Amino acid sequence: MTKNLDNPNKKHQVNERRKQMNTNTKKSILTGDRPTGPLHLGHYVGSLRQRVLLQHTHKQFIIIADAQALTDNAENPEKVRKNILEVALDYLAVGIDPKVTTIFIQSLVPELAELTMYYLNLVTVSRLQRNPTVKDEIKQRGFGASIPAGFLVYPVSQAADITAFKADVVPVGEDQLPMIEQTNEIVRSFNRIYESSVLVEAKALLSSVTRLPGTDGKGKMSKSLGNVISLSNSADEVRHKVKMMYTDPKHLRMEDPGTVEGNPVFAYLDAFDPDKEALEVMKNHYRRGGLGDGKVKQRLMEVLLAELDPIRIRREQLANDSSAVMRILKEGTEAARKVAAKTLDEVRKAMHINYFTNK
Ligand code: ATP
Ligand code: MG
Repeated sequence: MTKNLDNPNKKHQVNERRKQMNTNTKKSILTGDRPTGPLHLGHYVGSLRQRVLLQHTHKQFIIIADAQALTDNAENPEKVRKNILEVALDYLAVGIDPKVTTIFIQSLVPELAELTMYYLNLVTVSRLQRNPTVKDEIKQRGFGASIPAGFLVYPVSQAADITAFKADVVPVGEDQLPMIEQTNEIVRSFNRIYESSVLVEAKALLSSVTRLPGTDGKGKMSKSLGNVISLSNSADEVRHKVKMMYTDPKHLRMEDPGTVEGNPVFAYLDAFDPDKEALEVMKNHYRRGGLGDGKVKQRLMEVLLAELDPIRIRREQLANDSSAVMRILKEGTEAARKVAAKTLDEVRKAMHINYFTNK
């Protein structure tokens, strides 16, 4: 063995084999976003920051979920189309590296649609109607009784996305926890009914900030609610949005005591300010009274711009060559399709509907 390693060729082969083994034992991650708008600070603290770190220790797949975006944007395909590039630019600008992360477009992996069809038979309509996130979203979108069927079942298509890549880990915001639960119910039903161990249960990985509020103080910053600071916003836009932010409505005069809890300006500082000690001092001063909202917002502007300036600059550079970005998506989609096709084969085999093959 030692002798072999003196041979540079052999050494290279052994190293390659080690690398290979390493990739084979790495856990898989599936995560992604709906291309309904450019990504925002909620995505950044809720998942993007984690993905940048995890890509080196995991096999990471990132889905741009256009088919899911169409479930509540059927009349607006142009919006979905346009935002595929925007979302991809955001990924690359924050440091997701296509050499180690596979970024792909959902609708171009039709295996996912087929898996969804089979999984739909393992879920009841009443179970889908009980999903708390879907319930909230139906209310928000004002669907009333006219809920698009595709929208109601999108958690099942998410289960297809997660299981197709045998993801062990799914880094998500809090709103996605019911989707992981639904996925694991499907995995268990499938494996029980078809006496298989093809599908793998997934674990949600929550970041330290599970739900960043909107600039309007609403529960969640969300593309569909128009209460976001985007990663692509200009410095002036960021300043303006911070200036207009909701704070403590009872903090009318500077000398009044203010409330920190539930105040979105402080929620953002908690998420972004690297100087936690100075932040504590600021919070205490605000609670006591004598610290104006303007001062706190000034600090927030500084902190946000320090984080966003380099991302914006990189994004602008990448946007100059959009065909290179589309090429990354094309290659990622081809690679993802191979993985999903393999799982689909195994699924069909477990269900005994692989009619023409004995595989
Ligand atoms: P839409 O309004 O179209 O649903 P969205 O802003 O909710 O868009 P998604 O694409 O649905 O964004 O979410 C993608 C991922 O980002 C999910 O894992 C979600 O939990 C996370 N995420 C989204 N918004 C926030 C937020 N405000 N705080 C923390 N995580 C978030
Ligand atoms: Mg959402």
